[in-house]
Amino acid sequence: MSPTSDEKAKAHSSTQNKEDLEGEHNEWKFRVPYKVHENDKNFKALYEGSCHCGRVQYQLSREKPLDAKFCHCSTCQTLHGAPFQWAAIFHKEDINFTHGHHDLGWYDPGEKTTKHKLPCKVSCSYCRSPIMDEGRNMILLFPSLIKFKDKKEKHNFDPTCHMFYGKRLYDFPDGLPKWSGLSGDSDLIEDSPPEAIKKRKREVEEKEKEDEEGKSEKK
Ligand SMILES: [Zn+2]
Ligand SMILES: [Zn+2]
Repeated sequence: MSPTSDEKAKAHSSTQNKEDLEGEHNEWKFRVPYKVHENDKNFKALYEGSCHCGRVQYQLSREKPLDAKFCHCSTCQTLHGAPFQWAAIFHKEDINFTHGHHDLGWYDPGEKTTKHKLPCKVSCSYCRSPIMDEGRNMILLFPSLIKFKDKKEKHNFDPTCHMFYGKRLYDFPDGLPKWSGLSGDSDLIEDSPPEAIKKRKREVEEKEKEDEEGKSEKK
């Protein structure tokens, strides 16, 4: 979707360098989540976050993420230089970059290129702090960048599960559901809650039954 002439005029009035806005390779700047909501009175800023150097700053308008998870996959371990990643899922409309949103760097872990190809990793192009993973429909923000006012605020971002726990570098005996791979699409292992394991077992059995029935119908 190309930016409208109105959107372009607005962007041109707030930037010095016109070349930064023209052309197909700059169209992302007019799309969520990068579109600036600064003139949007309806954007309610509940949280603020920033990268290490402070060039990239953003606000969030949703009190509780749609979900929050710890990911222990090897890509997260390498790209974050940490044993696991803490990610909170938001809609692209929930974020408003107030500074440095045009100074972001991309990395596509699939093709190992620095192109803005979804899903991709988004970082500050100056200090290299990881900012978020941008998916096709959602963003996965890293809450460590948010300045929480109190414990209650941070509590909203508590993880609901661990995923790729099979790849973990350390154990987290916290009683949360632990997926061996992708959440909702692998086995629940270790100290996952027994009722969650039972539920998962039922789902897998039902799925197997459906697949069986599907097969016999086709015959
Ligand atoms: Zn930075
Ligand atoms: Zn991961």
